[in-house]
Amino acid sequence: MALIPHVIGGEKVDAAERLQTVFNPATGEKHHEVPIASVETVEQAIAAAQAALPMWRRTSLTKRANVFFNLRQLLKQRTPELSAIVTAEHGKVLEDAAGEVARGLENVEFASGLLNLLKGERDEQVSTGVDVHSVKQPVGVVAAITPFNFPIMVPLWMIASAIACGNTVVLKPSERDPSASVFIADLFREAGLPDGVLNVVHGDKVAVDTLLDAPDVKAISFVGSTPIAKYIYERAAANGKRVQALGGAKNHMLVMPDADLKVTADAAISAAYGAAGERCMAVSVLVAVGDEMADRVIPEIVSRIADLKIGDGAVAGTDMGPLITPEAKARVEGYVAGAAAEGATVVVDGRDFKFEGNGFFTGPTLLDHVKTDSKVYREEIFGPVLAVVRVDTYEEGLELINSHQFGNGTAIFTRDGGVARQFEFDVEAGMVGINVPIPVPVGSFSFGGWKDSLFGDTHIYGPESVNFYTRSKVVTTRWPNPDQSKVDLGFPSNS
Ligand code: NAD
Repeated sequence: MALIPHVIGGEKVDAAERLQTVFNPATGEKHHEVPIASVETVEQAIAAAQAALPMWRRTSLTKRANVFFNLRQLLKQRTPELSAIVTAEHGKVLEDAAGEVARGLENVEFASGLLNLLKGERDEQVSTGVDVHSVKQPVGVVAAITPFNFPIMVPLWMIASAIACGNTVVLKPSERDPSASVFIADLFREAGLPDGVLNVVHGDKVAVDTLLDAPDVKAISFVGSTPIAKYIYERAAANGKRVQALGGAKNHMLVMPDADLKVTADAAISAAYGAAGERCMAVSVLVAVGDEMADRVIPEIVSRIADLKIGDGAVAGTDMGPLITPEAKARVEGYVAGAAAEGATVVVDGRDFKFEGNGFFTGPTLLDHVKTDSKVYREEIFGPVLAVVRVDTYEEGLELINSHQFGNGTAIFTRDGGVARQFEFDVEAGMVGINVPIPVPVGSFSFGGWKDSLFGDTHIYGPESVNFYTRSKVVTTRWPNPDQSKVDLGFPSNS
């Protein structure tokens, strides 16, 4: 079985370490083995990033931008290969994997505008003969720690901006689908990125803790589950690092009585079951305002579930693939098994779907009359399970969303612009869709949730990433005439 190497200082490193199997979740077959880095291996990667830092910082902005222009072309050309890698290790269907590449590409395009992004500000004559300007300088070595569910897009959320801003990076991708990160590092190299600027180490808690504690690592970008995000935030902050840690979600879709039925049902099924629900922006709760809307939309969703083709994502025409591991399948099915006892009506039970072979499949589940104190409502399931909660009014639906632990994304479906505007104003979530079920912001905006969906104060990619990955320096300048120079022990005032 092929070993997925680390990438340290431009070298492919097959360190003799603990090995973990990477599966193809559609077949259950062992696909690759990945080394789980020791402290020493991670320290080597940090040292390589630290060594490359002065060179990369000195590299002109034009040369840096050229890397991103080249990378954009390469990513476009190699999308089919990248998509196949993602499908083989993650399980999502090929088209969805290509969509992930396209969304990651937005971050590369954003980074290629780095000459504009890194511009400082200047104010002339703030005091007599005194000018002030600011510059944005890199923070140093950045650690990027990513989840399994977007093995291309989420690394690109972080590393594109971090590298554009003049930092060097140690990327620690998910150990469950790590091949895509090595492929991205190869493409960066082909695009002209010097060795050592982007390093990739595979591993688990040992690797992560080494990054969190290393004095040379100055900033941590993390995306993953909420308990780990909170841990990362606290440990990195205690070590004096800047940190952004994005966590889990429970995204609600509020469906008003006037919503278009077809639009709503199409959106709900796509956003709930796409990528088998393993998206942090998946819709997992449909809040129907009024029994009439619930009674109309549920049959529409059921009929669309019947048409879904579930199977190996590498086969053309498949709509939904497997879950990432047998443990993920067991966890999701555990929630479904407990739903009825918690008071929900099980309209479609994903466990009833039959699959051949040893893939980690479960079918789509639809639950109605879900109680808001139940586990299936309160907790992130991260699988193809859609819970319908019935409320009587907009206010009741809003209160439900605002009182939930998570506040990543949310959406309203309505034909009423006034209600939509009010929702935008009232709702406590970082990303809001109006008739858009998965409102992932385009790369020129930043991505981030509220409440337990994000620890730290900076959203990821886009304009906020430039602040996160740079330190600003403000320079005050005076060119005094020596003839007019005199001693003045007073605090400088602006006059
Ligand atoms: P995870 O938290 O298990 O793993 C994320 C990363 O943390 C991986 O690199 C993993 O190796 C590392 N890790 C795991 N356990 C650790 C520990 N005890 N100590 C230190 N590091 C540890 O998440 P996952 O299962 O890979 O991804 C799914 C989760 O990510 C879901 O909760 C999903 O909502 C969330 N997610 C959030 C966003 C967002 O933007 N908010 C985006 C994608 C995924």
